[in-house]
Amino acid sequence: MKRTAVVCLCYAIVLFSIPFFISRGSAASAQGAEEAPAAKGWGDTVKVYNHKTDKVMLLDCFDYVVGVVAAEVPASYEPEALKANAVAAYTYAMRKKEYTEAHPGYAQEEHKGAHVCTNYAHCKSWKSEEERREMWGSKYDEYTARVEAAVRAVYGEVLLYDDAPALTVFYSISAGVTAACKDVWGNDVPYLQSVDSSWDENEKGFLTTVTLSDAEMKEKLAGCALPENPDEWLVVTDRAESGYVRSAAAGDKTFTGGEVRKLFGLRSNCFEISRADGVFTFTVKGYGHGVGMSQSGSQAMALEGYDYRDILYHYYPGTVIAEHYEPAEKAE
Ligand SMILES: [Zn+2]
Repeated sequence: MKRTAVVCLCYAIVLFSIPFFISRGSAASAQGAEEAPAAKGWGDTVKVYNHKTDKVMLLDCFDYVVGVVAAEVPASYEPEALKANAVAAYTYAMRKKEYTEAHPGYAQEEHKGAHVCTNYAHCKSWKSEEERREMWGSKYDEYTARVEAAVRAVYGEVLLYDDAPALTVFYSISAGVTAACKDVWGNDVPYLQSVDSSWDENEKGFLTTVTLSDAEMKEKLAGCALPENPDEWLVVTDRAESGYVRSAAAGDKTFTGGEVRKLFGLRSNCFEISRADGVFTFTVKGYGHGVGMSQSGSQAMALEGYDYRDILYHYYPGTVIAEHYEPAEKAE
């Protein structure tokens, strides 16, 4: 399933101020992986930096979205869940493409100026056809058909907020509720608020623990002026209503929830710290940053009969799906 996503998105959380033109044209026709990208509509290609090969690829967006859905969620997911993840992946690419083109210096360091990269910790994970063959083995044909059918069904559809592509971040499992963006990355984004996702509580791997001895804890917190009582070495000082930790203190130092997560290799920012018999225990809920759509939740909703629109509107409240998107100045 998914990996931890330690995301540095502060720069990406930019609400565009340019007015956009949204036409309700037909969705672009899907292109097979074997076809070379051709010059078509603005939203049909994307430049992708492949961090595994260190190369920038010009991809047909269909191939990009298929590769993201394949890498990010199990191909055995319900079609409506696959579709929701496909729309989120495409929307993300459109947002990053528009931003990168408007800010040419952006993402030079991280991905050589490409619109998106294949690193899950930075953009979204992506697998090439070769990688998918290896991952799926004898199920390759079945899973390819499944994922491609879902992507084709919604291809070109984009999730908008204020007429601009939304920041469609997602992750594996929530803490039973999702995290508000401001509680994780500090920016308040209207459609990235805390919403119910109690389906996740039944997901395998929902609850995990990490334990450390006093000595190990002391080593991790080297450089902090720790109080004498080990029970007070690391204390949560600010917790959102959702349960996600905003900040914790270790003596004279303050950490964000994300910093604690990284330091101790926790699966999410939603954790409790306890200590008994000289052992610290982090009890962690969920997997991933918790902002936006829970992939486990998308599958659970699909199994309950919700369609991809219901899923997207649940996790990104206030957004609206458009059938097609082009920035205003390109849409003449
Ligand atoms: Zn990236």
